[in-house]
Amino acid sequence: MSLVNGKRQAAWFADEGGDEVDAEGPFAGIVFNRPIDQVFTYRIPARLGQGVRPGQRVRVPLGRGNKPAVGYCVRVDPEAPEGMAASRFKEVIEVLDDPPLIDAAMLELTRWMASYYACSWGQALDAVVPAGVKKQAGTKVGTFLTVPDEVRQSFETLSLPTKQAEALAVLCRSEEPLTVADLCRLAKCASGPITALRQRGLVRTVRRRLAKAANGEAASDGAASDAKAIPTLTPEQTAVMAAMTPALEGDEFATFLIHGVTGSGKTEVYLSAIERVVARGREAIVLVPEISLTPQTIRRFRRRFGKIAVLHSHLSDAERHRHWRSIAAGEVQVIVGARSAVFAPARRLGLIVIDEEHESTFKQETTPRYHARDVAVKRAQLERRPILLGSATPALETWRNAAVGRYVRLPMRERVGARPMPKVELIDLSHERLPLGGLSEPLRQAMTAALKDNGQVMLMLNRRGFHTFVICPNPRCNQVVKCHACDVALTYHKGRRLLICHTCDAERPRPSACPNCRAPNLHYGGIGTERLEREVEAAFPEYVSRRMDSDTMRTPGSHERVLAAFRAGEIQILLGTQMIAKGLDFPNVTLVGVVNADTALHMPDFRAAERTFQLVAQVAGRTGRGDRPGRVLVQTFAPDHYAIECAARHDYDGFVAHELPERERFGMPPFGRLARLIGRGPDEPVVRDFMEELLERLKAAAPAEVTIQGPAPAPISKIRNLFRYHLRLRSESPRPLQLLWQAVAADLNPPAPVELAIDVDPVNLL
Ligand SMILES: [Zn+2]
Ligand SMILES: [Zn+2]
Repeated sequence: MSLVNGKRQAAWFADEGGDEVDAEGPFAGIVFNRPIDQVFTYRIPARLGQGVRPGQRVRVPLGRGNKPAVGYCVRVDPEAPEGMAASRFKEVIEVLDDPPLIDAAMLELTRWMASYYACSWGQALDAVVPAGVKKQAGTKVGTFLTVPDEVRQSFETLSLPTKQAEALAVLCRSEEPLTVADLCRLAKCASGPITALRQRGLVRTVRRRLAKAANGEAASDGAASDAKAIPTLTPEQTAVMAAMTPALEGDEFATFLIHGVTGSGKTEVYLSAIERVVARGREAIVLVPEISLTPQTIRRFRRRFGKIAVLHSHLSDAERHRHWRSIAAGEVQVIVGARSAVFAPARRLGLIVIDEEHESTFKQETTPRYHARDVAVKRAQLERRPILLGSATPALETWRNAAVGRYVRLPMRERVGARPMPKVELIDLSHERLPLGGLSEPLRQAMTAALKDNGQVMLMLNRRGFHTFVICPNPRCNQVVKCHACDVALTYHKGRRLLICHTCDAERPRPSACPNCRAPNLHYGGIGTERLEREVEAAFPEYVSRRMDSDTMRTPGSHERVLAAFRAGEIQILLGTQMIAKGLDFPNVTLVGVVNADTALHMPDFRAAERTFQLVAQVAGRTGRGDRPGRVLVQTFAPDHYAIECAARHDYDGFVAHELPERERFGMPPFGRLARLIGRGPDEPVVRDFMEELLERLKAAAPAEVTIQGPAPAPISKIRNLFRYHLRLRSESPRPLQLLWQAVAADLNPPAPVELAIDVDPVNLL
């Protein structure tokens, strides 16, 4: 695609007419939401009046066909580049946003994202602006009246009929353009005089977009604060605040890792830190995992701050747009949201907080594949602001950054109220008989005891469905039944009487015989939350139990309703996937059961042990948070595995001491950087050949410090009928990987329909 267009179409050049002056600049640099790593230059025609500013979206002709396309202006230059004739550039057709959507800081951040995550600048920019803002949802286009400047300066000297003179005077005094209806009302006239003014050329009409009056919920919710009961800080909380004070009050870049055990009161530290910056007229962004955006969390923020915006995935486009506008207008003190809230257009940012920073949901799995935690640290650095990362089980990358002094680690070792950490007992499943399914005898007995004592019970099993696999009984075949479109075993969902693929959501009826060898009587095995629910109901019929997983929590608000009922004591047993392990605080939970701690342990992923440790430690932390001590039972086939042993002892340091040397030995993160190249397409040999060709190119260009692994079929070798191969690049630091990718990507042409994706710092390795 060339940026200079020799055969430009006259349609885009309405102003052309031999006017030499108009053929000059200025010029706008435009990028597009496409995988094109280039800034295109366009001429800004004089007819655009205000011109074009960086951060605005514009419509421009693109490519040989000059199809109108939306792009982002990233810079404006007075001169044409490299002395090229101004008339050779295509012109900007129109400006789509006024004022600009993107400020200078966000332009810089997205440019960094583009180079770090190997996407185009336009793709990074497009991720920053929510769809509702791009569509300008909740606004309408109207016709407004304005007065040309020369008329405005001399209107008092004009001799006009009285009604016209009055209407013109009202319009001249108005700071904003007015609609015809507004002007009729203000000047107390009919539309006739206004039509006459337009015909005389004294008044012009412009098309403009304005927000519809917000109905219902206001963008920034002022209906907050009942009594601001601010708890007294514990000595540890006080010490952490003291350590952060210079950064909070001095607007300096610093990354703090608040490493606090579960129940140590990290949230209170966040709230206190935010109070400091809000008191100085600044704004704070708080990122939490989507699943933690519960009413309980939001209430804690509402109680302390008057103007907060909550950005969650259930917002309508119009609501999202309204929030965006009010944040950009400085009407919001605290923005609480999931991953993409890192891009909230806070113009007086004072602080960023990331709770549960180890969560993998902060990584976006589509282009641009950014990690919100790392983008947030970069944003804080560019805007010279402090950032707080909080976790009981920090990601090893974060741990290492603290160990080498890039981040300041602030430990919190005590639970609030000096409550003890819950005692964790391991149950070795290889010694237990599980006659009915998932609950061992010790776990049943513990449940009975806790329930009789009026305590509540949480059971975690990180697998949905009833049976987790269906297998052929014929010993010569013995295949599991897989999805037609994916290389994935199907899960049996008994309630819906269907086999479901958890990768592509395809559903099919249960086959009467093996699809491979036609053997009848297929075997069903493995236990999911649906089966656990049946088992719990049968074993504890006198108590109310509820299942919480993405099958039962389909409708918006259902998650909140179940949690509220559990909190109110209407439910005694809550069972579910890791959904129930995230940052919830229920004082009356006296028993937590982990039904199978090993679900993540044997994944083909170097983070398998870390994930297992985090999950068990986090769910164990859900108990013993009230006045009564908590108990945790963890069922496992691998009680001697260090990830499970350390989680049972609440021993993060012990886990790190085991895990880090392993990572170092293989140069895995946090000691090395990875980039994953994933090729996919409908024809397996074509994908494989392309990846082999890619390997040759990489080898030819790779410096010595980059090692290349693969290509090999990805662990999930087929998804939605597309075959997947991957290559892994590794080096000590990210820079050689970026340079290598830039060198190779420039003239890379996957044979259609093969697609190639690059994932820098991958979190998902399947
Ligand atoms: Zn599938
Ligand atoms: Zn078979």
